[in-house]
Amino acid sequence: MRERLARFMQGRYGVDQFSNFLTVAALFLLVIAFFIPVPRMRSGMNSLAVLVFAYSYYRILSRNHGRRYAEYQSFLKYSRQFRYYFQKKKSRMQQRRTHKIFRCPSCRQAIRIPRGKGKIAITCPKCHTEFIRRS
Ligand SMILES: [Zn+2]
Repeated sequence: MRERLARFMQGRYGVDQFSNFLTVAALFLLVIAFFIPVPRMRSGMNSLAVLVFAYSYYRILSRNHGRRYAEYQSFLKYSRQFRYYFQKKKSRMQQRRTHKIFRCPSCRQAIRIPRGKGKIAITCPKCHTEFIRRS
């Protein structure tokens, strides 16, 4: 069985981040569809989810590697800002345990200060404004 699957997948493009994204997006659409009260809109959303699923599997099973790789690259290109935004959020969340992040009152620059240092004077590295905060 496993051998047959391996033979079936031979020469095919396989899974990449784009197909993972499509699969998740399709599931997301199905969940949204579940909550749509209008039957016609709901079935439209379901069809869209099925199409996205189908496209994801079409890509995974495709033998045209060049084309799929190009799609993957443009996916990476267009999702870069998104991914960057979430990475930044995630790293902020992790840093919150050990650091506090303040905004400079005059230039809005984010300044990271270690926690537990008491009341301290902070000098903005960008505009050199000094302000006092509890760390
Ligand atoms: Zn500043």
